[in-house]
Amino acid sequence: MNATSHTPEDTALRAEIKDLQQRLADVIAQNQRLQAELEAIRNSVGWRVLEKAYRLRRSRLINVITAPMLRLAKAYLRGDEKRVASQRTRESALRSPTASEASWEKLKASLHPVPCDLCGADQAAIVLSPSPPPHVVRCGMCGLIYFNPQPTPEALREFYSSESPEDYTPRLREWQGELSAQKAQKLTEELNFLEQWLRRDDARPHNANQRVRFLEVGCAFGHQLFCAQQKGWEVVGVELSAPAANWVRQELGLEVHNGTIESAARVLPPESFDIVLMSHVLEHVLHPTAVLQAAASLIKPGGVIAIYVPNGDSFPARHDFDHWEWTSFPEHLYYFSPSTLARLLTKCGFEVEQMWTCIGHSNSEQLYKLIQNCLSLRSLEEAAQVAETLGSLCLLSDLRVVARKLNRHDTKCAKSLSENSPLLIKEGLGEVNITPRTS
Ligand SMILES: [Zn+2]
Repeated sequence: MNATSHTPEDTALRAEIKDLQQRLADVIAQNQRLQAELEAIRNSVGWRVLEKAYRLRRSRLINVITAPMLRLAKAYLRGDEKRVASQRTRESALRSPTASEASWEKLKASLHPVPCDLCGADQAAIVLSPSPPPHVVRCGMCGLIYFNPQPTPEALREFYSSESPEDYTPRLREWQGELSAQKAQKLTEELNFLEQWLRRDDARPHNANQRVRFLEVGCAFGHQLFCAQQKGWEVVGVELSAPAANWVRQELGLEVHNGTIESAARVLPPESFDIVLMSHVLEHVLHPTAVLQAAASLIKPGGVIAIYVPNGDSFPARHDFDHWEWTSFPEHLYYFSPSTLARLLTKCGFEVEQMWTCIGHSNSEQLYKLIQNCLSLRSLEEAAQVAETLGSLCLLSDLRVVARKLNRHDTKCAKSLSENSPLLIKEGLGEVNITPRTS
């Protein structure tokens, strides 16, 4: 067709495009008005908690405990005031309580300032300001909470591989303990839950005769890998601690890559895994974006990733970040919230399928006591009920997400969305698909 001709079809098409452009402009303008309104509300009342409650208004739990909900909203928001207060009072350095002097000195010498890993901005506001560094900061652009300055990869690797009794590997061995029948059952149930997501994918129905290919990043002493193998899955582990990786190879006879997921992605076959699990790993790494991009390169299109991390926006974290059970350096370098984690997943080509919080690896008794004190409740039973509500509001300490790797076309869409619409998934503005989960 001649470029200058104007056929009736051509004119109709132009009109249609003009109409679409107008509608797009309207949507953008409306969105900006909405954002401004939301900002105003957010700053005035316990909006974040109440908005989530409102969204879940049909939930039985909300109807049962509406009065504690309001007190909860107040206590939750009081967390920010406490953070400011602790900035003034805290004097001792925040550090892993058990890291050996030798590895601590090496880590300290390697500390260097870093920009935000999620959005690249260098506008972090100090949340906690222990003296000397590292500080816990929150990115002024995207809300990501992280330690700054951070150690070098070499210092961190040494810390994880050290067999000094106070360092990571011996403590990891102690935390994991023996794989009891009860623990194996729990881990297997987690794997069964993840397996359902393969069957739910209509676009790429999972062939039942094909063995599930499972990759665990940060496999430690291989308990979850072992359970996956017992299910008949083909399993591969990635582990930074050399002693732990060697143990899994020798004692369990399983394939483990000793190193980071980035180095594993250079040697493992691309797009070859159905499920990738990262249980309490992403908060430990220096570059979460690079880690998720490496994971994405190893997952089949339509395959899923499951990520468990401490929830930096949880009720206990906001109440007292300093004494929160997950505040630990250099083990933990990042603290994700539901919105920053969702934003990171979108950035790396994933679509969030389900996001929820649970008590998980946290100390439940400690949590119930905290809730009881904060809300002046009579019993721990009442506190347990409130904890259930905190779970449905995504405010418990263990944040979990299942996300699906988009195919190449979808990835392009997701990327342009996250780059052109930085306000869409902003801390507290609730563009995240948060699904309550009762189990
Ligand atoms: Zn940022």
